[in-house]
Amino acid sequence: MEYHSPFAYVPYHSTGRFDCQRHILLKLYGNFQKSLALFYKKIFVDMRKALAFLCAQYIIYNIQETIVAMEGTETMIKHLSLKAYGKVNLGLDVLRRREDGYHEVRMVMQTVGLFDRVELLCRDNPGVTVETNLYYLPTNENNLVYKAAALLMNEFGVEHGLHIQLKKFIPVAAGMAGGSSDAAAVLVGVNKMFGLGLSMEQLQERGLRIGADVPYCVLRGTALSEGVGEILTPLPAMPQCRVLIAKPGINVSTRSVYENLHMEELTEKDHPDIDGLVEAIRQGDLCRAASLMGNTLERVTIPAHPEIAAIKRMMLETGAAGAIMSGSGPTVFGLYTNPKSASTAYERLRYGDGSRIVRQVYLTNFFNRREPEEF
Ligand code: ATP
Repeated sequence: MEYHSPFAYVPYHSTGRFDCQRHILLKLYGNFQKSLALFYKKIFVDMRKALAFLCAQYIIYNIQETIVAMEGTETMIKHLSLKAYGKVNLGLDVLRRREDGYHEVRMVMQTVGLFDRVELLCRDNPGVTVETNLYYLPTNENNLVYKAAALLMNEFGVEHGLHIQLKKFIPVAAGMAGGSSDAAAVLVGVNKMFGLGLSMEQLQERGLRIGADVPYCVLRGTALSEGVGEILTPLPAMPQCRVLIAKPGINVSTRSVYENLHMEELTEKDHPDIDGLVEAIRQGDLCRAASLMGNTLERVTIPAHPEIAAIKRMMLETGAAGAIMSGSGPTVFGLYTNPKSASTAYERLRYGDGSRIVRQVYLTNFFNRREPEEF
């Protein structure tokens, strides 16, 4: 007899009732296996998302306190744990190239909640040693944390040694001043650990010898940065919002971006309205500030890396009030007033079509400047 299985598209040749039941059971078992596979797949994807969420939470919210130890009768700091926050440029205008090769800029800087962890451990033997979680970063005098520690310890003849543990979370060579921020944290930490008594301004002066962004990283918060980065004017804190940060899988050298910037080719629209942006921040108008954001260096970096424009587009499509490249790139950030849109955009860049071009993505907030007595 010929039996047409209700589950199969081809006739099923049966020799009796038992075969028919067996076939149905097999079919049901097949469906069960499929559901199980789907179930496992869902659990796997959910776990991946949960893990990413936990990592993001760890990166953004993990807070450790300073540890102070007693040695004999003298109280001294043996271990300091600091957070070195990254920055984005809400505005970056390049005014001119100076005779010494440096560029004069006007930038609106903003600290964000994404940070590197810097641990300082006092040692009895003199000298500075560095260890880091990123194998490709230098651990000698080429690391900015080493430079910062050596600069202060040599100047003040500190007899103790220092071991620096650096855990990097801020994307490297990404336009977020990760290295400068680490150096600033070390300046602040060494000053505190060895009781050097330097003021914030004196730390900024020394920071400028390490890099143009270091003085700002000592200050933090919302600020206007002029000259080559050394003239700083603190601004009122930017109104809070969700900040989506995405770095494509490419690295960009700040030096080569400035070398390829031809000032004579720039048009008016390559220069963002920094005064308008500062005014909007002073008025606490987040949407206006977001609409005035701009970065002259996009003119060099975007033609070389069109994925930057694609990420900006995705952020604007998902409801960002503004999205631009930070510093010399390639990191792009978007500002979201609606937290739900920000989460949807994060999902799209992390798991959706954006994941083809985005290597690292973070959802965070602005970090606003702390009270000066903390330094
Ligand atoms: P900026 O926005 O100030 O231009 P960036 O984000 O583009 O900085 P960084 O991540 O600070 O770039 O580092 C640029 C280069 O500096 C790296 O290629 C790296 O080799 C070197 N470097 C030295 N010390 C550090 C550090 N502590 N963290 C990151 N990079 C460091």
